Amino acid sequence: MTTERFIPTPDGQYNIGHLCTRLQCDRGLAGKTAMRWIGAHGEQAEYTFGDLERESSRFANVMQNLGFLPGDVFFIFLPKMPEVYFSFLGALKSRLITGTLFSNFGEEALLDRLDDAKAKGILTRKSYLKKLLRIREKLPHLKFILLVDAAEHQASDILSLPALLGESSDCFETPLTPAETPSVLHYTSGSTGKPKGALHRHRSVLLQSRTAAEVLGLRPDDIYWCTADHGWVTGTSYGIIGPWSLGITQVHFGAAYDAAKWFELLEKHGVTVWYTAPTALRMLMREEPALFARFNLAKLRHVFSVGEPLNPEVIHWGRKVLGRDIYDTWFQTETGAIMITNRPGLTIKPGSMGTPVAGVEAAIVRDDGKVSPDNEQGNLCLRPGWDSMFVSYYHNEDVYRQKFKHGWYRTGDTARRDSEGYYWFMGRSDDVINTAGHLVSPFEVESALLEVEGVAESGVIGAPDDLLWEKVVAFVALRKGVAWNSALELKLRLHISNRVSTMATPQEFRVLDNIPKNKSGKIMRRVLRAQYLGQDAGDVSTLDI
Ligand code: ATP
Ligand code: MG
Repeated sequence: MTTERFIPTPDGQYNIGHLCTRLQCDRGLAGKTAMRWIGAHGEQAEYTFGDLERESSRFANVMQNLGFLPGDVFFIFLPKMPEVYFSFLGALKSRLITGTLFSNFGEEALLDRLDDAKAKGILTRKSYLKKLLRIREKLPHLKFILLVDAAEHQASDILSLPALLGESSDCFETPLTPAETPSVLHYTSGSTGKPKGALHRHRSVLLQSRTAAEVLGLRPDDIYWCTADHGWVTGTSYGIIGPWSLGITQVHFGAAYDAAKWFELLEKHGVTVWYTAPTALRMLMREEPALFARFNLAKLRHVFSVGEPLNPEVIHWGRKVLGRDIYDTWFQTETGAIMITNRPGLTIKPGSMGTPVAGVEAAIVRDDGKVSPDNEQGNLCLRPGWDSMFVSYYHNEDVYRQKFKHGWYRTGDTARRDSEGYYWFMGRSDDVINTAGHLVSPFEVESALLEVEGVAESGVIGAPDDLLWEKVVAFVALRKGVAWNSALELKLRLHISNRVSTMATPQEFRVLDNIPKNKSGKIMRRVLRAQYLGQDAGDVSTLDI
């Protein structure tokens, strides 16, 4: 399977900005809708690939006129809005290292990232300016703040984007960009510690487009919706680059999660392929079935999920309520594209994240570098060399190097591979529980807890124990109106013992209103652990609890 089938680069032009815009126009798609924008209040606008080409070019000219040079770091700090996409592609056309920041970040989170990256510029909006100005003096590298919604320049270094765009041409000849040129800088979600800046290169587009075609199954007439925010890797790899490099029409929705609005959108816009996350799906599961009966999702062909393990219960719900399989996909900020996945045509084993993408070599590798036999739990590793592999942790070369051992990239996740080549996620290596010499997967216990009526959310950790080394502690959030009592506790214990193993049966339960999650929706087990131990939770900059 050659990548050229999806992205022709015969002239050595790998520029993501160019490939997502000009190439599509050259392919005859200038008049095709690239983005159907739907605002928080239902307002709608259509942008063609021709519009994307012109608007991103205009932005590239702004960058050039301000004196930005290839390799300078530029961040976009905005909520979902059309300008995010134009500026992202325009900055890439100018060969800037382009980062996207989740719009809810507070000062500390911003300072960490802008300082670490030595950012030279940032695009934001007036209402976020205060936050930036409070940390400004700690950011000597930051030369320009551009405001998307200021009609006039505010100061010599706080500029109006509309004014700059008004002075700039919408034609930009993208300089030849070799495959290895740095492209996107994405900070990891910070689930295990301080977020790390994973630096990517333009070559990543090869795998992002191939997986968009071969895994997401995108076809020219699709209407595709990726719910991920551009602040996270899914939002750029599969909310911008993959689909647009294939000339696919995307819906972008500028409002937060709302079950009824989401279903309305799926129906009204005839979404055919939908990429979302387990947290959102688990939230949908909490809704009354009557809500879903109101909508006709006949056009929806495929549903995908990423970011956390997909509990089997969610797959069963998808079959019942959506009448479709939900395909779990696994990847990381560092991998840039889907690595291990379920997909149309591959039989789903609920609870498994599927098999590696063609051309990606995965294995469970022991500490001494030997590949483990089937069904042994251990370090999930990837053979370096795939097109969208990160090339460094920005300004953190030591930590980057530690990720590679015995010729493998160590993902930091624990999994097992079965005899048919399917991978089963157990947990992040730090989260897998070692109790009395047995390894217990927090994910398996969490999934089993969700199967018990009355449990809305679950989070499972290992806590130090004199006798067992670690004991299993379960946190649960109950559905509205459900009361915690000893009968329910007994039911949960029995269920885990039967479904998972007696070793996995929680020694202790704690009931919470909500399970803490970070801003990308991931369960924060390290926070649960700290809470349990009465410790400080450390860096919680990406937390939303
Ligand atoms: P940090 O590296 O800063 O601790 P993070 O690992 O959460 O944060 P991301 O790169 O956003 O940052 O997330 C990748 C991780 O998310 C994976 O290593 C894995 O632990 C988890 N993950 C993603 N998709 C899946 C999936 N389908 N199944 C299980 N886990 C998943
Ligand atoms: Mg990680």
